[in-house]
This record gives sequence, structure tokens and C-alpha cells, in this order.
Amino acid sequence: MPHMPDLRPAWFIRAGLFLYDHLARRELLPGSRGIVMRGHPAGAPLVESIKRGFVYSDGWVNDARLVVLNALDAAEHGATILTRTKLLSAVRAGGEWRAQLRRADGTTLGVRAASIANAAGPWVGELLQARWAARRRTACGS
Ligand SMILES: Cc1cc2nc3c(=O)[nH]c(=O)nc-3n(C[C@H](O)[C@H](O)[C@H](O)COP(=O)(O)OP(=O)(O)OC[C@H]3O[C@@H](n4cnc5c(N)ncnc54)[C@H](O)[C@@H]3O)c2cc1C
Repeated sequence: MPHMPDLRPAWFIRAGLFLYDHLARRELLPGSRGIVMRGHPAGAPLVESIKRGFVYSDGWVNDARLVVLNALDAAEHGATILTRTKLLSAVRAGGEWRAQLRRADGTTLGVRAASIANAAGPWVGELLQARWAARRRTACGS
């Protein structure tokens, strides 16, 4: 990662990489380090005005395959996997969750669950609002 003048200060990036190194224990990959571009193989193809840079190692995974493999593993352990299915709402009633789902073909179905893990990523809040909205509607009897 070449350091350019318009980036954050070098010390700031170094501090960030230091934190990155220590977020998890390193067993296989080397830690990050600062480098001087002149004389370093990474600097060879770069313009001379780039004097410094940083080297860090990271892992890579095919996240689509990871999701599929997780789903297959869960299915092998008895889970029902419903792809292209949206959770519309979930309300707590009678000591359990009653959830409304919508399939890609527009059909809806209701499921009951002892617990729910909200793993909607950036949509976590939106989903919570849908849940509360459904709860309010239920409370109002509409
Ligand atoms: C451009 C970009 C690059 C990134 N690069 C990296 C990287 O290199 N390394 C790294 O570690 N992280 C990276 N991240 C971060 C990483 O993608 C997220 O941290 C991770 O995907 C979060 O996983 P999640 O399962 O919590 O949420 P998500 O992967 O966002 O999954 C949430 C799922 O919930 C579904 N959903 C939402 N609402 C509903 C609903 N009502 N009913 C049913 N399903 C619903 C969505 O369709 C989605 O499939 C990157 C993120 C972005 C945006």
C-alpha cells in the first residue's frame, strides 16, 4: 500500500495497521510493517515521488461459497433453509415468536419459533422497525 500525500498521515495508518494486526492472534500471516520504496520490490513499478508504503497480509475467502456451505451444513444438522424469502414481521405471542415470511413468488407463510437471530446486516434496524410496526398494529387490533 503506497503512501500518498493526500492520504491520512503515515503514523496514523501505521497505528491503524498495528491495531489490525492485534485484532486477532496471528499464527500464519506476518504482521504489518512500513517500507521504504526505494530498493524494495514493491517500489520498482511506482513513480519515485512515492517514498514510503506499508505491507500487510490478509486472508481471502469466497464469501458466496462460505454462505452456501454454512447453509448446507445447517441443513445437514436439521435446519430448513428458505432462500429468497423475506421476513416481513415477527411478534411475540404465547411465549413464542410468530413470524410472517414472503417467498420470491409473492406467497406468504407463517412460522413459529422459540427464538430469532436478527442477522440482517445493514438492514437490522429496518427489520426491527418492521417488527415493532407489526407489534403496534397487533396492539391496535388492526
Ligand atoms: C463494499 C464492501 C466491501 C467489504 N469488504 C470486506 C472485506 O474485505 N473483508 C471483510 O471482512 N468484510 C468486508 N466487508 C464487510 C462485510 O461484508 C460485512 O461485515 C458482512 O457481510 C456482514 O455480514 P452479516 O451476515 O452481518 O450481514 P450481510 O452480509 O449484510 O447479510 C445480511 C442479509 O440479511 C438479508 N436481509 C435483510 N433484510 C431481510 C429480511 N427482512 N428478511 C430476510 N433477509 C433479510 C440481506 O438480504 C442479506 O443477505 C465489506 C462490505 C462492503 C459493503
